[in-house]
Amino acid sequence: MEAANDNVSARALEIGKAGEHLVCADLILQGYRAFLSDQGLPFDVVAVANDRLWRVQVKSTLQPKNVNAKGRNPRLSYSWSIRKRGKDGKGDRLTGAHCDLVALVALDTREVAYLPLSECGQTVQLKPTGSTYTSVGGPSTFDGDVSSYPFADAISGTRTYRRGSLEECPNGHPYTPENTYFSKGKYRMCRICAAESMRKRRATKEAA
Ligand SMILES: [Zn+2]
Repeated sequence: MEAANDNVSARALEIGKAGEHLVCADLILQGYRAFLSDQGLPFDVVAVANDRLWRVQVKSTLQPKNVNAKGRNPRLSYSWSIRKRGKDGKGDRLTGAHCDLVALVALDTREVAYLPLSECGQTVQLKPTGSTYTSVGGPSTFDGDVSSYPFADAISGTRTYRRGSLEECPNGHPYTPENTYFSKGKYRMCRICAAESMRKRRATKEAA
């Protein structure tokens, strides 16, 4: 049993390494200077662009999974946990002290999505390239597929990533601390909108 576990973690390590090399190669082929960092540092790749260094944390996954297991239609999505690697697979939240960007690698298609760390929650889900379904999960989800997050955008500082703006809900209410709560601990919700939809649901019930 122990030998099998050792094999699994050795394989995971190899897969992680493959992702790091892939990101390095991807950046170099785009014309950037990029190199693998030393072991033990909280970032895996360093890239040179816009006259500065960018610390890149690489997260890899082998293939997309069905994230709509309970629903009728399978919905494939890649999923990456954005955490520091710990001994038992768990880890602390990544912060700006660890890295600037995350590179999310889809190993089956060898595509890489680059995102500023500040845009990432604890998990990031992206659709496979060409998927047409609409993401669900509120304003903190990413609409694009895995091919639509280039490195150039991630370092530009000008791209808006999430569906809603960071200051307002999709209906234009401000995300002040008083008007904000988090559903399931991760989806940012607007209290005004939540109260409104509750009122509508009640009205529908009463009319029925
Ligand atoms: Zn609202």
